[in-house]
Amino acid sequence: MTPILSPDALLERRILPCTFHPSEDELLSSWLVRLAQAHRVKVQLFSHYLWPQIVVWKRDIDKLAPPHMLNTLVVRTLTDPHRIAQTMLAPAVERLTGTQLLHVKRGPTSWLMPVGIVHRTRQGNGLVYCPGCLQRDGANPYYRTSWRLAFYVVCPTCGVYLREECPACGAPVNFFRLDMGHQNAAEQLLSTCYKCAFDLSQAPMQPVPAQELSRYYTLYRVSREGWKEAVPYPHQYFRVLRQIVRVLSCPFGEALRLQVDVRLRMGQPVTWPSGGGAFEQLPIARRIYLLEQAMWLLEDWPARFIRVMHDNQIKSYTIRRDMAEEMPFWFSSVLVEHFFSARNRSWSQFEH
Ligand SMILES: [Zn+2]
Ligand SMILES: [Zn+2]
Repeated sequence: MTPILSPDALLERRILPCTFHPSEDELLSSWLVRLAQAHRVKVQLFSHYLWPQIVVWKRDIDKLAPPHMLNTLVVRTLTDPHRIAQTMLAPAVERLTGTQLLHVKRGPTSWLMPVGIVHRTRQGNGLVYCPGCLQRDGANPYYRTSWRLAFYVVCPTCGVYLREECPACGAPVNFFRLDMGHQNAAEQLLSTCYKCAFDLSQAPMQPVPAQELSRYYTLYRVSREGWKEAVPYPHQYFRVLRQIVRVLSCPFGEALRLQVDVRLRMGQPVTWPSGGGAFEQLPIARRIYLLEQAMWLLEDWPARFIRVMHDNQIKSYTIRRDMAEEMPFWFSSVLVEHFFSARNRSWSQFEH
């Protein structure tokens, strides 16, 4: 593509000539690619002009970008620093885990889907999308921060399941690769599949049944405000949700018995999508399957949970395995009262 400015102009000017603020709930990487497009410069080059010292696309900038990178954006786009901070996932992840994300910490993060950066391209389905939202964006489609959170599997605005792949060719979302080898990349909307050029805003939409949708509304409210007065912080609920999901994802023994029983009680077919490993790395169909069961189990707390666990003879050890001292009181008090037999065992036996 032909830059409308010389490289010197991008290097010298304090305020970028074609700048704009991020859209509502936009991811940092999405905003950067759109800024590069507006300046008709390839995204790698654009990043290099702004930050010659760092290889921007080698790291997960959406998780947590270095402070000096953000400072540059504050100065050169005249965007409020608080607004820029909202383009990153660190604040949301910290709310969900109750721990601070540090620059030095690498590796997996609870509830955040990894993008698997290899040779500056992103692999795997670490980002999902809602065709309805991309459609409504019109001439400027962009990607939302919530689309990288593992429990965001439906769009609360459009009432449809999110998608993780291009329906035409099966490729994952990779909008930062749009300009590789394309001369007219500046004109390509971010909703374009990088591999086959299909417009992702035209992907088929699958409506979420009303009962499930109301569960997701509750879940997304909890992720912002906490569960209830006695459980006021999101991480106090999400720690347990993740544990239940882990118990349910075990494909054998009492966990398998539990899955089958929960599906039957929910009135759903006892077949399930495959996939193993950490929740954040599972295909979206598998995450939907596990989340819907876990949310159902935590409803009508604690009566439903106690009844289903007892009916399936699920041991206390299975429920609390590997949770150690991270167990919130609202959960541990129910386990102590209803699942712990003082005659036979002591808590210390369960610690290992
Ligand atoms: Zn939507
Ligand atoms: Zn495609």
